[in-house]
Amino acid sequence: MKVLVINAGSSSLKYQLFDMETAEVLAKGLCERIGAGGTITHKPANKDVYSAEVDLPTHDEALSLVLGLLVSPEHGVVENIEEIDAVGHRIAHGGEKYKASSLIDDEAIEYLETIVPINPLHGPPAIKGIRACKRLMDKTPQVGVFDTSFYSSMEDFRTIYAIPYEFYTENKIRRYGFHGTSHRYVSAKAAEMLGKDIKDLKIVTCHLGNGSSITAVDGGIAIDTSMGFTPQEGIPMGTRSGTIDPTVVPYIMKAKNLTADQVEDILNKKSGLLGVSGISNDSRNVEAAAKEGNYRAQLALKIVANGIKKHIGSYIAELNGIDALVFTAGIGENSATMRSMVCENLDFFGIKIDEDKNSSARGKAADISENGAKVKTLVIPTNEEYMIALDTVKFCKE
Ligand code: ADP
Repeated sequence: MKVLVINAGSSSLKYQLFDMETAEVLAKGLCERIGAGGTITHKPANKDVYSAEVDLPTHDEALSLVLGLLVSPEHGVVENIEEIDAVGHRIAHGGEKYKASSLIDDEAIEYLETIVPINPLHGPPAIKGIRACKRLMDKTPQVGVFDTSFYSSMEDFRTIYAIPYEFYTENKIRRYGFHGTSHRYVSAKAAEMLGKDIKDLKIVTCHLGNGSSITAVDGGIAIDTSMGFTPQEGIPMGTRSGTIDPTVVPYIMKAKNLTADQVEDILNKKSGLLGVSGISNDSRNVEAAAKEGNYRAQLALKIVANGIKKHIGSYIAELNGIDALVFTAGIGENSATMRSMVCENLDFFGIKIDEDKNSSARGKAADISENGAKVKTLVIPTNEEYMIALDTVKFCKE
């Protein structure tokens, strides 16, 4: 059984083709600069990487190129497109309708179009990716896997903002949560690593990448998460501010004569590690500058680490305990410095890491807890694409 996973961005299209019997990635790649030129990098397993500049006016051309490469004698990995049993689409937002992964038919596309106003960045490209697949692979089941679904069991008092209730009923303003596929994957892996049933575990998962979020998982169910109406809420990230006093927004609009769009741009793209350090959104660069004594780089890292720590603490309170703390994504998997800063002085909760294990854990699953620590602290590489493929299998044609 073969599953193609598609992640369509506004000018990009990422893909991975899985053989689900062996969990092997047969090929993966990335189309970039769609609509403004175009490049492709295609990596078939056991064959040379293929990279080229190509004209990719729309997602349709990008997908045609990908499908052509997947079956080509030189770069391909399957004989024909019919060998692909289903396509799984990464969809950031499933609104209130999608509480689980689902087949994407015309009605589903119509629904996704209705929620574009609350998902303006990721909605349109995801719909383009789905439409392209439907046009080019019309007999193949298309499955949507939604980042928000993992949070569909969150209770109302954790999703409704304390603003006039009509903003929820009329404008759909509530907390939705994101990165759910990653949190779902690593929490399940954590249970596997601990040899326990996830139903018996209280886990806090920290997805720390360019975008970052923390989730409290009780018995396999997400009960709270740091991102909200948009991915802007929660901890400070590479370029996002995370939660700030909302009054700052009208204040700087008036003080600096800025429009709402300009402030949104500042909070989304010019804040976080980049905004405070003035150096970079990439924590590798900020960490290097901090080591050399740069005050603003040190400050940026401390603000991020403290934001993470506060969420862990509040989730331990909401969970009424914790069995495992998990770090994942670019920073979570690779930065021993950030993990160490976050876990410092959490021994009251039973969280104690072994610095030797921590510094040698990079990009692979590892238990970095001190021997005998009450709470297991784990590094687990995320694999959202594989999780999407696993969900998609359930909808494969027989
Ligand atoms: P995305 O959210 O785009 O999927 P990733 O999960 O790939 O992002 O995370 C990317 C980030 O991970 C980079 O911007 C960088 O800050 C961080 N990162 C990657 N490797 C390291 C490292 N060795 N040390 C510190 N940070 C790292």
